[in-house]
Amino acid sequence: MEIRNSKNVLKYMFGNGAIKNLRDILNSQIKNKNEDYCVFYIDHYFKEADIFKNYIEDLDVVVYVDSTNEPTTDQVDGYAEALRKLNKIPAAIIGIGGGCSLDVAKAVSNLMTNPGKAADYQGWDLVKNPGIYKVAIPTISGTGAEASRTCVMMNYEKNLKLGMNSEYTIYDQLIMDPTLTKTVPRDQYFYTAMDNYIHCVESLRGSYRHLVGDLFSMQALALCREVFDPTGDMMDLKNLEKNMLASYLGGCAIANSYVGVIHPFSAGLSVVLGIHHCLANCIVMSVMEDFYPDEVAEFKSFAKAQGISIPRGVCSNLTEEDYERLYLSTIVHEKPLANALGPNFKSILTREKVKYYFEKM
Ligand code: ZN
Repeated sequence: MEIRNSKNVLKYMFGNGAIKNLRDILNSQIKNKNEDYCVFYIDHYFKEADIFKNYIEDLDVVVYVDSTNEPTTDQVDGYAEALRKLNKIPAAIIGIGGGCSLDVAKAVSNLMTNPGKAADYQGWDLVKNPGIYKVAIPTISGTGAEASRTCVMMNYEKNLKLGMNSEYTIYDQLIMDPTLTKTVPRDQYFYTAMDNYIHCVESLRGSYRHLVGDLFSMQALALCREVFDPTGDMMDLKNLEKNMLASYLGGCAIANSYVGVIHPFSAGLSVVLGIHHCLANCIVMSVMEDFYPDEVAEFKSFAKAQGISIPRGVCSNLTEEDYERLYLSTIVHEKPLANALGPNFKSILTREKVKYYFEKM
């Protein structure tokens, strides 16, 4: 196998209250106090709350990112265009929120130093110049966006869901403050944490392996098992900390691994039915006994112990045409499917078989 370079987030800070260091970190990037500014992409969930107001100065730009739907290339182009109209590029870009806000900040940072549109860079290693300095502050744990080398965007023109997979997409600074996750609704907290659990399960069950990736995944899974231990509460303070670290480690694992069967089916649910990534993963996971028997049982025990229900019947009332679209948007993910099932995955996941699993959901 080809030996490739790996890169992780350059600097990270971890601990309850770590957010208090944000302004000092940003000021270290500012050379001219009268004209340099920072841009904040903050999840719209925090629009009414003012927990970040102490870190934002007069010249700074604040954009609330609507995370109802996953980011699109058009949306990112709009944000980048607005900044290009200002006379100066920002000194720093800050993403605050879940995967959506963190991915938007990454993409805009790359577009500040690379010409053209977001869609030009969807793929592997297409970004030519390092983006501008960027800081990630996750407020929910599990997507791994804070650590990964991609930023996923929907491109409806090309019917494509793909990120700018590049070493320049990796954050320069990460602030992990577990207290920021304490107000996340319980079901959302669970679904997002399970995104991480599922990434790690798929990586470790695949044939494309990397020892460093495996070790990150194993440690992330060990932490998940502590967080979702049935005798405890997944959202007590110690578990908020462990879950945030699990997400970071799982994100580090992604760079050196591929997902498996669950993510391709999940992408089908997102593309065809518009179901959010983390929830879609959980819906798929609950019917994947044929591929991941032990892990599905464990996943169900986690959900039961924490009182979380996974929606059922999401594919009832679909037409044959819908099922065909579901099949196509699943089977297109060749790398992860080959990782899980070998190069002849299409002989295992036939049209009928794919439909069978969707019907079970
Ligand atoms: Zn995922």
